[in-house]
Amino acid sequence: MDILEKLMRAYFISDERPHITVNKSICQSCSSKECLYVCPAQRYTLEAEGIQFIADGCLECGACRISCKSGAITWNYPRGGFGVRFRHG
Ligand code: SF4
Repeated sequence: MDILEKLMRAYFISDERPHITVNKSICQSCSSKECLYVCPAQRYTLEAEGIQFIADGCLECGACRISCKSGAITWNYPRGGFGVRFRHG
């Protein structure tokens, strides 16, 4: 099973309070933008107005939090009852 097939098995329960927030003013001075490359769910994109982030679909792996050397990302686990659900088998 490849990564895309595995991702298709996960589903998400959205929360109006995202568990990850991104300080875009810090992102503006970041030249490397690791978040664009490390996120397996491709939750970060670079648009004309700068880094965009969508929390829905996050796999809660923590890679973005670890890779962001600028400290632009505030990361918490989702509140109870929200976030990713993995289906196995
Ligand atoms: Fe992407 Fe993982 Fe960060 Fe979620 S925690 S946004 S899946 S890198």
